[in-house]
Amino acid sequence: CGIVGFIGNNDSKEILLKGLEKLEYRGYDSAGIAVMNEDGVQVFKEKGRIADLRSIVEEDVLANTGIGHTRWATHGVPSTVNAHPHQSTTSRYTLVHNGVIENYDLLKREYLQGVALESDTDTEIIVQLIDLFAKEGLSTEEAFRKTLGLLKGSYAIALLDEENKETIFVAKNKSPLLVGLGEDFNVVASDAMAMLQVTNQYVELMDKEIVIVQKDQVTIQNMNGETISRDPYTAELDA
Ligand code: GLU
Repeated sequence: CGIVGFIGNNDSKEILLKGLEKLEYRGYDSAGIAVMNEDGVQVFKEKGRIADLRSIVEEDVLANTGIGHTRWATHGVPSTVNAHPHQSTTSRYTLVHNGVIENYDLLKREYLQGVALESDTDTEIIVQLIDLFAKEGLSTEEAFRKTLGLLKGSYAIALLDEENKETIFVAKNKSPLLVGLGEDFNVVASDAMAMLQVTNQYVELMDKEIVIVQKDQVTIQNMNGETISRDPYTAELDA
């Protein structure tokens, strides 16, 4: 299973699909991408191979920002509905997640009684909580931070906000995730190999950091909201 993301000045679909193909070796049962442009966010997801996903992605949807996911089901059967990306009921937020949220059932009962969930995944809880806290008045960054503070378990997450089209929000805890740096673009990947097609400059992320990824800027923050600076390293192609 794995995650990719791209924000920049090129159409993202092919970069995301190629990235997911590079992550196939990790194993998966379904895959999906979400792309964001002036018109909003569009999700394409499918049970089965990346080739099956590729066949449903609409060629004429052009978008410079997107996220992608291969799923290894832990909560909810492998199916198109349970495949990622997942969206909040309002469809403002779109999210991919690798890992396991151990307290998802508790969070569901405590916060999401009034929300009609679409999937059987632990992941959907995350995106619905972010939306809930945003509705209560928090900024996306605050809502994301508050949600992460409630989660118990492992995660690598990439999040799109339809009302903030210049950003991919990212975080990790006990699951791998890197940010890759380019000129006029930046990327997200579980494994540098996925995005070596576009850059070999990567920044390692630490558990519980929040990263604001924009096309010409990457800001890493710790749990207290303090900005962290960290130099990139050069990833070598050895596979
Ligand atoms: N626990 C999530 C699910 O079952 C994510 C699984 C994964 O890491 O791919 O959907």
